[in-house]
Amino acid sequence: MTEKFDVAVIGAGPAGYVCAIRAAQLGLKTVCVEKWQDAAGKPTLGGTCLNVGCIPSKALLDSSHRFHQAAHQFAEHGIALEKLGIDVAAMMKRKDKVVQKMSGGIKALFAANGVSLISGVARVLGNERIEITDAAGKVSEIHASNTVVATGSHPVEIPPVPLDDNLIVNSTGALEFDKVPGRLGVIGAGVIGLELGSVWARLGSQVVVLEALDNFLGMADRQIARVSEKIFRKQGLDIRLGCRVVSSGIEGQEVKVHYQDPQGKEVVEVFDKVIVAVGRAPSTANLFAPEAGVELDNRGFVAVDDRCRTAVPGLFAVGDAVRGPMLAHKGAEEGVMVAELIAGKAAEVNYDLVPSIIYTHPEVAWAGQTEEQAKEAGVSVKTGAFPFSAVGRAVAANESEGLVKIVADSDTDRVLGVHAVGSCAAELVQQGVVAMEFSASVEDLALTMFGHPTFGEALHEAALAVDERAIHMPNRKSAG
Ligand code: FAD
Ligand code: NAD
Repeated sequence: MTEKFDVAVIGAGPAGYVCAIRAAQLGLKTVCVEKWQDAAGKPTLGGTCLNVGCIPSKALLDSSHRFHQAAHQFAEHGIALEKLGIDVAAMMKRKDKVVQKMSGGIKALFAANGVSLISGVARVLGNERIEITDAAGKVSEIHASNTVVATGSHPVEIPPVPLDDNLIVNSTGALEFDKVPGRLGVIGAGVIGLELGSVWARLGSQVVVLEALDNFLGMADRQIARVSEKIFRKQGLDIRLGCRVVSSGIEGQEVKVHYQDPQGKEVVEVFDKVIVAVGRAPSTANLFAPEAGVELDNRGFVAVDDRCRTAVPGLFAVGDAVRGPMLAHKGAEEGVMVAELIAGKAAEVNYDLVPSIIYTHPEVAWAGQTEEQAKEAGVSVKTGAFPFSAVGRAVAANESEGLVKIVADSDTDRVLGVHAVGSCAAELVQQGVVAMEFSASVEDLALTMFGHPTFGEALHEAALAVDERAIHMPNRKSAG
């Protein structure tokens, strides 16, 4: 007999597993179908984020940051090390342990909340029916009054640099290197290129980043992008903008990458490893039977409205499989919203305040509008910026690079965007998100007391700087 559920979630990444847990909390009979399995054939939960994305990349960023500090900063603190080395196998083992722990945690949360788990590949048939094919090829069916598609995304490949999964890899392969490559090529100066490029650069690789576009971090505020680019170049990342990769070839243990520089001149660069990080595409192929009646847009995303509803009643899609930034927290919030809508509650996601964070060191983070976006929208803009070099806690910690910038409406005083590059940029921007969620004015931030000495004082001073009254800034207006 076909088992019946109130909610079936397809995919156990951050969008899907969060949706399933919230639906079960709301008293709905919920199942999650996940196709990912470990080597032993057990279901693997957490999707891209936990297994080959956010968590393993942050584990390697943290390990490599510690190594880099030991090599370059400890001496200044008076800490002497006899001999410094990096054991890549041990670093990878720690990363794998972190991943296992987090993925196992979701299984425990499913059990605690009464979410059923089915291992297999799901396909939406329509009429509230879902077909599931298990690893042995056995096909079964379940019935669900509501279906939530949360199938995520996969890395984009480009014809000039085909992967061989050894010398030329995508982000997943770049989390598994068994030694530090001498010469590392990265195609794409986006989030993955900068984060994983930084990991291996800190451990000693010579890293060349080839970016097709002429401007660096096009989605960021221009001032923040300019300062970040300067910092990354100083760290040794050889970022080459306006470079069009035309072909590549593997010769022995080397990869030759041919590209056109901004002047149109053909250049050949030789690498020991190449990471292709040129974006991700939604995983929606073969997901819907024609009779399911679901539309994909021209890039393969499931077409949804602002409440993640498809045109088919009871069929929703969330996370990387739909429009908007491909970020774990955006997908998770969509998952919660959909569970609540199914339970008959009012729910929405504030797409204007999705925080973006690049976990390099220093971090680059922002939320809300950039100065350029606000001006383009016809807002009369005022800004204030404050450098970490004038913040006591940052100087004491040797973390004085970067700045915080506030973008505000000069007519209403409302904070429209908070942007930062600095060692605690993510946490400071998150404070800005809370403020903006409460529709804070610049004056609200200026009147708020910030603990001393904290990095947060930079946010306070940036708010004061909007009206040219920052206390600790010799040059009253500008920070960088
Ligand atoms: P996914 O996490 O991709 O999960 C989808 C799941 O659905 C998978 O488990 C898949 O196996 C399953 N599935 C697919 N099709 C089927 C099917 N037919 N049947 C059953 N199961 C199916 N985001 C951040 O916010 N912060 C970060 O720091 C960050 N770092 C990242 C680092 C890297 C290297 C990468 C690659 C990504 C990173 N991201 C980060 C992005 C983040 O991982 C994604 O935005 C997030 O995982 C999307 O969640 P999701 O649930 O929509 O999809
Ligand atoms: P991205 O979109 O951030 O960057 C891709 C870069 O590659 C862009 O700058 C693009 O101009 C460039 N590019 C595209 N085609 C190219 C070509 N042929 N040659 C040279 N450059 C080319 O994509 P990504 O870095 O692959 O990351 C994928 C997704 O994963 C992103 O949407 C991101 O949101 C998410 N992610 C998030 C985090 C985080 O939140 N910290 C970390 C990693 C990944």
